[in-house]
Amino acid sequence: MQVLYKSTRGKEETVTASMAILKGLSEDGGLFVPTAVPKLDIPMEHLSKMTYQETAYEVMSRFLTDFTEEELKDCIARAYDSKFDTNEIAPLHKADQAYFLELFHGATIAFKDMALSILPHLMTTAAQKNHVKNEIVILTATSGDTGKAAMAGFADVPGTKIIVFYPKHGVSPIQEKQMVTQKGNNTYVVGITGNFDDAQTAVKKMFNDQQLAQELDSAGYQFSSANSINIGRLVPQIVYYVYAYGKLVKSGEIQSGDKINVVVPTGNFGNILAAYYAKEMGLPIGKLICASNENKVLFDFFRTGTYDRKREFILTTSPSMDILISSNLERLIYRLTGENAQQCAELMKALSEGGEYTISEEMKKGLGDFYGNFCSEGETREAISATWYGSGYVIDPHTAVAAGVYQKYLRDTEDRTPTVIASTASPYKFTRSVMDAISDRYQGLDDFALCDALSALSGVQIPKAVEEIRTAPVLHDTVVDAQDMPDTVKKILGIC
Ligand SMILES: *Cc1c(COP(=O)(O)O)cnc(C)c1O
Repeated sequence: MQVLYKSTRGKEETVTASMAILKGLSEDGGLFVPTAVPKLDIPMEHLSKMTYQETAYEVMSRFLTDFTEEELKDCIARAYDSKFDTNEIAPLHKADQAYFLELFHGATIAFKDMALSILPHLMTTAAQKNHVKNEIVILTATSGDTGKAAMAGFADVPGTKIIVFYPKHGVSPIQEKQMVTQKGNNTYVVGITGNFDDAQTAVKKMFNDQQLAQELDSAGYQFSSANSINIGRLVPQIVYYVYAYGKLVKSGEIQSGDKINVVVPTGNFGNILAAYYAKEMGLPIGKLICASNENKVLFDFFRTGTYDRKREFILTTSPSMDILISSNLERLIYRLTGENAQQCAELMKALSEGGEYTISEEMKKGLGDFYGNFCSEGETREAISATWYGSGYVIDPHTAVAAGVYQKYLRDTEDRTPTVIASTASPYKFTRSVMDAISDRYQGLDDFALCDALSALSGVQIPKAVEEIRTAPVLHDTVVDAQDMPDTVKKILGIC
């Protein structure tokens, strides 16, 4: 079955998967969605015996139907290799009566590596397939993890440049150090004096700016997006839910066909949307549990049907979830409208112009698969400490938001379905918050001393990604206002 992609806001025009990956965002400002979600038509008996790479091929080939088998297998082999510190790529760890799906064994020890280690290969393959002559410029706004993971993926990939904007005061010290020490002749890192949403809004504007696109084209460049709105990010994220299910069957924790629930610490709604697509493919998922931090726009949305971004932006200890506009939610909204692009476009217009929208009662009925809740900062700390003292397992603040919400879900519903918690970052990326939650004994230590203390405590070796930045020189130090981002891009590309 051929799968094509259409816009959530557009007419019925469709593009191939490779074109959707190249474009990132549709010209009408909408997001690309598959015309139909393909079925997972392989027996679980086979899937459960597969390696991560084999599972990736089975899942991704169903969505990216204009890639040849050779092309796709080549992309997968380049992505999921020794950059990961375990052959399993995404291992499961049982603790606290749940299965923690560790998505942080890649180059930057956070879950975005799962998709961003393959995206550059999908993109350069897509460019070749479509005879693109321009150099591809990846433009990304990051709340901390995407930027570094994207740069790690794209660094020195021929035919590409990557420009990353991050909120100067909205990321952890280790996240910032990781970014400003990025190597690669085609990588550019810029801090902005605003928050993540300011950066993301400005990036979206540049993508929709036809005049800027013209200027770029004459200079031999074209934009593409590595943000989680790119279908080339979303599809690789479906893989690990299928893989986790297979591993649970293989180890006898569940029987093939049994339902599982998944809990996802959510920001931009990409990771949980991938779980939703896995469910649509036929993977036996019961509830999709959406965990937010104090920026609980999604919790309010699931409860009331109103999405309202007009609120204070809160800096939390889970900065990669400090988001008031969850871009990928648009894909779910589109489904809820019965794939009515006009209705979806109107709701998104209401959001960008008035800061809120409310879905109809009819649409609300489609939210039955989801459960939303949130953790305060105190509850997040509590979840870190409870998991450590209860199970001897150290989790990062993002994962802790999910673990805390899972406890709330259990109290609310008494639903004992086996549950997978998406563990989105290594505790080594957020050592200060983690160690403070465990004991007040560590308060005087600097970031690297904290890593040593964490290693001594947990017995888990310090990841290579952290060791490397201890001594790395700062290579990027530009900081600009959000409104100056377009000029900054032009300056970098030498077109002003
Ligand atoms: C990006 C990120 C999230 C949020 O994922 P979304 O797909 O944006 O919902 C959660 N945790 C970590 C560590 C992240 O980097």
